[in-house]
Amino acid sequence: MTALKSPSGRRTASLEPGAQQADRFAMELAERLRATGENAYQGSPSDADSREAYTAYGAGGYIGLHWPKNLGGQGLSPLETVAVEEVFGYHWLPMSSYLLSVKTIGNALLQFGSPELVERLLPRIAAGELVFCQGFSEPEAGSDLASLRTRARLEGDRWIVNGRKIWTSSAEHADWAYLAVRTNPDEPRHRGLSVLVADMRTPGIDVTVHRTLGGGTIGELALTDVEIPCDQVVGEVDAGWSVLMGTLDHERVTSEKVGVVCSLLDLLVEHAVTSAQRRLLSRLRGEAAVARLHGRHATELLARRTPAAAASSMAKLSVAVLMQRLAGIAVDLLGPHALVENGPDALLGGRLAAFHRAAVATTIAGGASDIQRRNIARQGLGFGR
Ligand SMILES: Cc1cc2nc3c(=O)[nH]c(=O)nc-3n(C[C@H](O)[C@H](O)[C@H](O)COP(=O)(O)OP(=O)(O)OC[C@H]3O[C@@H](n4cnc5c(N)ncnc54)[C@H](O)[C@@H]3O)c2cc1C
Repeated sequence: MTALKSPSGRRTASLEPGAQQADRFAMELAERLRATGENAYQGSPSDADSREAYTAYGAGGYIGLHWPKNLGGQGLSPLETVAVEEVFGYHWLPMSSYLLSVKTIGNALLQFGSPELVERLLPRIAAGELVFCQGFSEPEAGSDLASLRTRARLEGDRWIVNGRKIWTSSAEHADWAYLAVRTNPDEPRHRGLSVLVADMRTPGIDVTVHRTLGGGTIGELALTDVEIPCDQVVGEVDAGWSVLMGTLDHERVTSEKVGVVCSLLDLLVEHAVTSAQRRLLSRLRGEAAVARLHGRHATELLARRTPAAAASSMAKLSVAVLMQRLAGIAVDLLGPHALVENGPDALLGGRLAAFHRAAVATTIAGGASDIQRRNIARQGLGFGR
């Protein structure tokens, strides 16, 4: 084990040997991005994105660590992947493209995609060349995803897609979209859904970008008569619900956010002057360790292709709730200056203020906390079945 240095050089948690190299890589990359002015304060907690960072992950061999070597991966254990994701979060690297294209969609393609689609897309993702965005949410179809209305109808060998997607992270950076669509409106609402992938340059895809509270951006997709070849379906036609749920299971393992939490705890420790404050931070560190274990448990279930919905929801819920609590506790500890993000009065390099704003979104993105609790109750504890 080796000591992990926080961006300010303070002492911190220990690292597993497999993640030490990633730590050096992440520290250098974070330094480089800071020097170019990009993501000075933001980073993974705020859904920030950077093509430069994504390309560097690919060039450094950090995309698809557990994917097979013939698909551009390194053939390592999925636990090594989540350890590296935590390190990247610890250094506040911008990760939105990575989290969507690799952790969520790349892993889902590997699980559900046809061999032809996987061979076509995975190596390019692993090389850091292809960024995906995820078009699931729609107006009135967020938590209740099964009410989505974007329609795809088959004409010859193409799907013709019409509809609107909102909350589309990284839409402005994306090369491809992973779209949830209704292919059979005559079926009950959880059936008749499919997942299609489309090149973002396809005529009829229009992107609008909005700024978010967290400091990043969020997109909206207008889809008008978009023609998608019929071999670009992920999984079976009309059986997309299980693909969607399986994709969310990957998304909800948020090890990178455990890294973010640990980095802030390391920064805060010097500001805890009373024993009660120190005890509180130790307690939060313990909760971060629990969140890490939830993530690893879900990762192992996903790797075995065994039901992981409840475990993934526990992983997501544990860290999202912890982020919000930590944000509040840190402000109590440091006072109002904790909320200054720029300029000489900003504490901890402005990170705490950025974290405070971004923590709100973490309890919503990838499924609101109420939905995670419902998943745990239903899928994990068997209530309401
Ligand atoms: C930063 C960010 C990034 C995002 N990125 C993407 C993306 O890239 N792609 C994408 O497709 N989507 C994305 N989303 C959308 C996200 O998945 C949805 O916001 C989320 O699922 C909630 O849906 P909603 O916004 O429609 O809220 P609603 O579903 O309207 O929920 C509103 C409130 O009601 C509660 N609620 C709803 N239904 C129930 C229920 N059955 N039981 C108990 N409580 C309930 C919810 O918990 C919530 O508090 C992103 C969201 C954020 C904030």
